[in-house]
Amino acid sequence: MLYIFQNLFQHIIGFVLTGCRGFRDFCHYLGKTQGVILNENAIFDIQVKRLHEYKRQQMNALYVIHKYLEIKSGTLPSTPITVIFGAKAAPAYTIAKDIIHMILCLQELINQDPEVSPYLRVVMIENYNVTQAEKLIPACDISEQISLASKEASGTGNMKFMLNGAVTLGTLDGANVEITQLVGRDNIFLFGKSSDEIIGHYAKGDYVAEQYYQDNPAIKEALDFIVSDKMMEIGSRQHLERLYWELRNKDWFMTLIDLEEYAAQRENAYKEAYEDKTAWAKKALINISKAGYFSSDRTIEEYNRDIWHL
Ligand SMILES: *Cc1c(COP(=O)(O)O)cnc(C)c1O
Repeated sequence: MLYIFQNLFQHIIGFVLTGCRGFRDFCHYLGKTQGVILNENAIFDIQVKRLHEYKRQQMNALYVIHKYLEIKSGTLPSTPITVIFGAKAAPAYTIAKDIIHMILCLQELINQDPEVSPYLRVVMIENYNVTQAEKLIPACDISEQISLASKEASGTGNMKFMLNGAVTLGTLDGANVEITQLVGRDNIFLFGKSSDEIIGHYAKGDYVAEQYYQDNPAIKEALDFIVSDKMMEIGSRQHLERLYWELRNKDWFMTLIDLEEYAAQRENAYKEAYEDKTAWAKKALINISKAGYFSSDRTIEEYNRDIWHL
């Protein structure tokens, strides 16, 4: 508890005085542990959590591909973007490992490309755990909470990021619903289909990934890149092709259903993050100030009153 308040205090003071020392601490840590040197002034966009298809790290990675292709074609972002992934997967979870493989290929491809790396960086944190989380979370600008609506019971990462002054980019799923009620729609970036819509698609069995692939040229371009020569040079054909066909033929957790709206809302978030620093700091402070609701004292008291009746 004490360290949470220390972090919180540090973060608020950081905003006011130095412009965020969480970034410096984290960059220093990453340089020491992984030999990765990052630009402290970039937007830090972070998704750290278990690797699972429903949490949709693959949707985040498809956006990264889209951004990479955009930069290659000459459209440069106004502020550099650093995308950080951290995740563990169960050893037998084949698709999870394929997703990690894709992210590692993108990391290598993008970071080695002098045309792209000044504007876009990808980092996969090795061995994500609580020690790393303590460093990562206070350094975050944009907290990726992008699970398929109806699938996340609550999530706790979303609360940790909020408490430390990140702004959420997310779906109306799990505790993102409560966060939205607490901070208001101006202080969170929401996108995607509702839980009811998703539950409806499962009931009717009418989600067809291939339709999104055929109907949307940007989606097709991003997906096709997974099996491009550039990716094959770096990665393994087996992993990349398996993931590619999984996403086109099955995609049980509906990556493609929200991809277009996700990309648009992520662009909005980036635009707001660099355009008006004071407005962004206000969003961050509103998030911090409303996070007290997630106190375990309040939660246990409510459970006791409404559920356990002890
Ligand atoms: C909080 C936390 C999680 C859970 O994160 P979610 O985003 O809620 O899934 C997992 N691993 C570590 C190390 C954490 O600190």
